[in-house]
Amino acid sequence: MKIFTVGPVQPYPVTARVYERGYPYFRTDEFSSLMLSNTRNLRKMLAAEEGSEIVYLASSGTGAMEAVVDNCLMKSDKSLVINGGTFGARFCSLLRSHGMDFDSVDLPFGKALTREDLDKFSAGKYRALLVNMTETSTGQLYCAQMLSDFCRERGMFFIVDAIGTFLADEFNMQKYGIDVAIASSQKGLGLSPGMSIVALSPRMKERVESAPPPLYSYFDFKEYFKNNIRGQTPFTPAVGIIYELSEMIGFIAENGGVCARLEEVSNKSRYFREKALGAGLDYERGYPLSNILTPLKFEDGIDAYEIFKMLKDDFQIYVNPCGGELSKKILRVAHVGNTSKADFDDLIEKILVCLRRIKSAK
Ligand SMILES: *Cc1c(COP(=O)(O)O)cnc(C)c1O
Repeated sequence: MKIFTVGPVQPYPVTARVYERGYPYFRTDEFSSLMLSNTRNLRKMLAAEEGSEIVYLASSGTGAMEAVVDNCLMKSDKSLVINGGTFGARFCSLLRSHGMDFDSVDLPFGKALTREDLDKFSAGKYRALLVNMTETSTGQLYCAQMLSDFCRERGMFFIVDAIGTFLADEFNMQKYGIDVAIASSQKGLGLSPGMSIVALSPRMKERVESAPPPLYSYFDFKEYFKNNIRGQTPFTPAVGIIYELSEMIGFIAENGGVCARLEEVSNKSRYFREKALGAGLDYERGYPLSNILTPLKFEDGIDAYEIFKMLKDDFQIYVNPCGGELSKKILRVAHVGNTSKADFDDLIEKILVCLRRIKSAK
């Protein structure tokens, strides 16, 4: 089996070690020091300010998005959301279900986000910007500097879902003045699914601490902050994934650090894109692409979803199909995870086999 999906990804052997060894009960000094060490390392990897809080939630990434809406925004805040695909739309529906006021910058598929798109929304009206820095449903990577300037000029909180960005493209909380960053275990980190991470700047921490209690007490960040002091969480954390995280942090450090990991992902994406074009395939190029994935685009008459199924059933190869209208047009090929250039050569070969079969069956 070979996995080219954005998450879960093709696993790294270091994470399997955790389960071979087994892991013990967690309300101990040893587990606390593992947690504190993970937090110190994650702060560096996210370029988060000293004094930032790192919250570990036993939920997938969407749980963290909901927890952020619940804890970091007040009823009186109006937000602006970049809605460029499935994950932008998810922020909108979370805000709606929490009864929060917002406007959205709606991008049709294929359009790049520009400063003009933002400037249509009047200044002084919005308290926060919510954005999925990488809109993983299309692969568009928004310009962090542009969004950062926009928030700074307008004094808005800058709330970033970096689930598709962290460890796939450059990400830096301090450089861009990011108040909240969300990451998730199964994407760039390459761990098992089931844990999400929220980093909060000191100024956002202060805001959360002075806010009334959130709707969901399971997600009450104040309780997580209190427990962070002793390296614990208020409820049972995803213990296995916390151990995986520690192994992965060590593995990344031994292999040249975050920069080397980013370069590896970027090399794989560049290699795949060149090879794909050379093989007569094409990908969507109407907007800046993240390194996490390539959105392969198929011509009319070829059903992308059929290729997805054929790769899975006949070759045990997994790529990401798209949802909704794009499902027949686009396949997403991920470049994060324990894959090599040779794996991408093989993938292209197999996609060509699928295409020949589909064409000859017509
Ligand atoms: C994967 C992802 C999520 C989280 O999805 P879950 O299925 O809840 O893990 C959120 N935002 C982005 C940008 C993602 O890529």
